[in-house]
Amino acid sequence: MQRVIVIGLDGGTLDLMQPWMDDNSLPNFNKMRKQGSYGYLRSTTPCYSAPAWVSIVTGSNPGKHGIYDFFRTDCFAQKNLISSRYRKKPAIWNLLTEAERKSIVVNVPGTYPPEEINGVIITCLLTPSFESNFTYPKEIKNDLTDNKLGKYELEQIAVDDIPKYLTAKYAPEKLSNQINMITTSHATVTMHLMERLNWDFTMVVFRGTDDVQHLLWDRKDLILSCYKKADEYIGKIMNKYPDALFIVVSDHGFGKADKYFYINNALYNAGYIKTTSDPTRNFNTILTLFFNKTSKFLFYIFPMQKIVRSKLGKKLIMSTVISSNIDFSKTIAVYHSICSRGIRINLKDKYEFGIVENKNYDKIRNEIIDFLENIRDPETGEKIVKKIYKYEEIYGKNAVNDPLDIIFDLKEEYGAQELIQPLPGIEAIFKNYGHNLPIVSKPGFYDWIGDHRPNGIIFMYGDNIQSNNRIEASVIDIVPTILSAMDIPISNDIDGRVIEEAFIKKPKIRRINNDIKKKQLLTEAELKKIKKLKLR
Ligand SMILES: [Zn+2]
Repeated sequence: MQRVIVIGLDGGTLDLMQPWMDDNSLPNFNKMRKQGSYGYLRSTTPCYSAPAWVSIVTGSNPGKHGIYDFFRTDCFAQKNLISSRYRKKPAIWNLLTEAERKSIVVNVPGTYPPEEINGVIITCLLTPSFESNFTYPKEIKNDLTDNKLGKYELEQIAVDDIPKYLTAKYAPEKLSNQINMITTSHATVTMHLMERLNWDFTMVVFRGTDDVQHLLWDRKDLILSCYKKADEYIGKIMNKYPDALFIVVSDHGFGKADKYFYINNALYNAGYIKTTSDPTRNFNTILTLFFNKTSKFLFYIFPMQKIVRSKLGKKLIMSTVISSNIDFSKTIAVYHSICSRGIRINLKDKYEFGIVENKNYDKIRNEIIDFLENIRDPETGEKIVKKIYKYEEIYGKNAVNDPLDIIFDLKEEYGAQELIQPLPGIEAIFKNYGHNLPIVSKPGFYDWIGDHRPNGIIFMYGDNIQSNNRIEASVIDIVPTILSAMDIPISNDIDGRVIEEAFIKKPKIRRINNDIKKKQLLTEAELKKIKKLKLR
């Protein structure tokens, strides 16, 4: 029986890896490239981790699995994180459970809370805290210690960002060391589980490459050290399980972010967004600017991670991330979140303080699309937005979980910012912007200097894989490829195709007509709660 190992390298890009494979800085990737098949793996639209990883593990487009962002898109004016329960399609570990195969799943984005499967799940960065149940079976958590499975490093979204930003700024080497320590932790726990269980499928994601590229894009030496750490563990696992089929993937590629487009500033200037107070004078703006100025001092004086992970710290950070001074009862449309690349229209029938009549939906949506299309960078006079879609054009009319109304891609050099505020610099407080907030800036204190690109990576390696073979695939092709390699039929409802051209002896592809439903994991009470979600 073919065993399969999937290793994720968040944000892995061939642009950086090609020269590092050429000079053998990444010997195991180089080996996979020469003795296996490799190439680009196309990401989702938008090319961000939440939709892309979920497409990788379901074989479905976001319109079917319903994950478009780290934040749920069915709540307006509230920021609720997505979870495994919110996903509408079965993941590979659900399908394998049904086929009576055993899985080990470690650190895959979107797996919290862990589902009951045939095997083990240890969840990822959307886990609220170490106190929560983040393993299945529950008891495994007690074994995540040095003398048993290994200590498990749990990252926490948003909360861990500030210490990471500050470390990147003031002690970049320390950041890459921390990232390598996290990779070691996740690899060690995974390898110990592989030794102890009779598994058929193992998947682990190394997330650190994404962080280091976002924050330290100009320090290629430190980025290389993080790729090397992943390469080292991939080599160890390859040597230990020579009979397995290896698939190494990334959720998207990476590149430089030169400038930032403040989308909500643009919507504010045009009158689509109203605020409760002058955005240049509100508490969050002042706090943010003050923090920029004092951050170096804070970094050296305080144990940042301890403070931000404390109950009070978490509360303060999450409320700053989430709150803005948007007056939703007067706002027509808003850019949803930093990674959403999408705009929500405030429909009267849908939201508590909605103001746009249903009959005006098309008119307003077309008007905003026109507006976006014609926004120009004041510095260059060039357009900023590359392509704009109505949600149904990419996700389909029946897309689940309420996707955002307008989705768009920016030109490659631009990152996106959701804050409504003057641009970085304390002097902003003393300037009167009136109704003309700047819309483009160089990366500010909280902006990444590297950002995502649509082309990720795929490497396939094993006895039955063609050597020295260039391939091209999409994130939705991974699940059908795994299933057919394991001789399991593929539901017709799965969107992707089998990457046949990578195999020497082509796997038998069996398509079946049943739409395997994901077990409905939400309780009645939870469903009720979601329906009742209200604006702040
Ligand atoms: Zn990222």
